[in-house]
Amino acid sequence: MKINHFLGMGAAVLALVACTTNPMTGRKSLQIGSLNSQITTSAVQQYQQTLKESKVVTGAQAQMVKKVGGKIKTAAEKYYASIGRSADLASYQWEFNLLQDNQINAWCMPGGKVAVYTGILPVTKDETGLAVVMGHEVSHALAGHGNERISQAMVAQYGGQILGGTISNAQLAKVFEAAYPIGSQVALLKYGRTQESEADEMGLNLMAIAGYDPKQAIPFWSRMEAASSGARQPEFLSTHPSPQTRIADIQNDLPKALEYYRAAGGKG
Ligand SMILES: [Zn+2]
Repeated sequence: MKINHFLGMGAAVLALVACTTNPMTGRKSLQIGSLNSQITTSAVQQYQQTLKESKVVTGAQAQMVKKVGGKIKTAAEKYYASIGRSADLASYQWEFNLLQDNQINAWCMPGGKVAVYTGILPVTKDETGLAVVMGHEVSHALAGHGNERISQAMVAQYGGQILGGTISNAQLAKVFEAAYPIGSQVALLKYGRTQESEADEMGLNLMAIAGYDPKQAIPFWSRMEAASSGARQPEFLSTHPSPQTRIADIQNDLPKALEYYRAAGGKG
């Protein structure tokens, strides 16, 4: 299925391994830019399939998800425009849906397709808590973390060959399958610690630019920690570092985020 999207890729394309600089955090990462359109195509298909197989919620809570998502998206557009990088966002196809599911989870696929599960709403508690989660998830997509993960896997396995442009389609398919196991979703990608920190930092900034108080990220992660001591282990935490490990990082990121928040008219 999704692997087929990659089988037609020529080896020459793979030679375009490049260093990408995150326009908000300045972190450099290795990403194969030419993979983006295939990753997005695959993600969009998986998203549509997920919507078909899920109960998409309508009503006030779903409207809140769309509202917060829209504000985070606008904040990203505002930021990228301010640094002359609006073109970076051209290929995103933003969509924000609330799905009926007791799992404590939310995700954003590469390309901007977001799902929030109803199970996470008691933990997010209010619009600002939701902005913490959605800002973080949207940031994984903006930062190209899915691409980075696949690119890393490819270089780790076939480094010299990729640079020499001699990787075969079978090798490519194998790496892609390892990164995106058949039957799993792009959404379930497990990111590395560096990527999680970066999504936290970007997410804080984006929620602040959107006018949400970034200080609220700390009580949110405390609530997530409390939820993890209950009978139901949040799925969100199975793909994310523990709340304690990230709260300290967030404290470091807060002063910058608060500048954005004040610039957006917030009192912080
Ligand atoms: Zn994350």
